[in-house]
Amino acid sequence: MTGKFISAAVAAVTAAMSFAGCQSGPSMDWGNGEVRAVAHRGYWNCEEAGYAHNSIAALRCAQEAGFWGSEFDVNMTSDGVLLVYHDSYIDGKRIDATPYEEFRDCRLKNGEAIPTIDDYLAQAVKYPETVLVYELKSHATPEIEDRLVETTAAKLKEYGLYDPSKVIFISFSKHICDRIAEMMPQFVNQYLGDNISPDQLYADGINGIDYHFSVFSKNPDWFGQARSHGMSVNCWTVNAEEDMKKMMELGVDCITTDNPDVLGNIIKDAGR
Ligand code: MG
Repeated sequence: MTGKFISAAVAAVTAAMSFAGCQSGPSMDWGNGEVRAVAHRGYWNCEEAGYAHNSIAALRCAQEAGFWGSEFDVNMTSDGVLLVYHDSYIDGKRIDATPYEEFRDCRLKNGEAIPTIDDYLAQAVKYPETVLVYELKSHATPEIEDRLVETTAAKLKEYGLYDPSKVIFISFSKHICDRIAEMMPQFVNQYLGDNISPDQLYADGINGIDYHFSVFSKNPDWFGQARSHGMSVNCWTVNAEEDMKKMMELGVDCITTDNPDVLGNIIKDAGR
């Protein structure tokens, strides 16, 4: 067989595998018509997770259900411990101004301790095919946010997860997105706010968007702007079936939802 025929055969097999969804890892081929379900704060919305957002049980349920991705929120204590927790305060104490010791005994709704990033990544590595949608929360100063980004990179390396096919980053902090673009340009880096257009983000080196789903109808040219730059497109938090279908029609890559089981069925029914 000549080299030409061999390449053609390899290309045909690769195309067939891709069509059948048999890629070796999770698909990061943006704009290919595929819709990916992201469980918002894990798959917490079930009895097994005890309805506890950002819990280890919610991550495990998302992994076991086989959703493409599982989202979680990360805040940093004053002594540099990363906590998987949504709000910037716990029991009236600002997380970034309080040492970890003061949160050690706090419990989530399902009885779990608030997971540290070590607890969380130790569970994450058990299912490396579930993409981690890692939200870095806004902190009080740019210096604290720099430390958060640096500690994030170090922790991912420690757990063998410093890999753009296993983790994508999202943030409402433009400063954090700028730092990620500088330090880790190979990773997907999606801005969450509704105040900066894809054209501007792209000009600043940011390669993705994760807008509230209403932003696309308020700014009808923003989806096309993102696609024209090859940016990844995610949206939040899409809980009604009707809105899920609208986002699928628009052609987004990822849909972040508290009801990933419902979205999973819609994606399956639509053959996507
Ligand atoms: Mg979040």
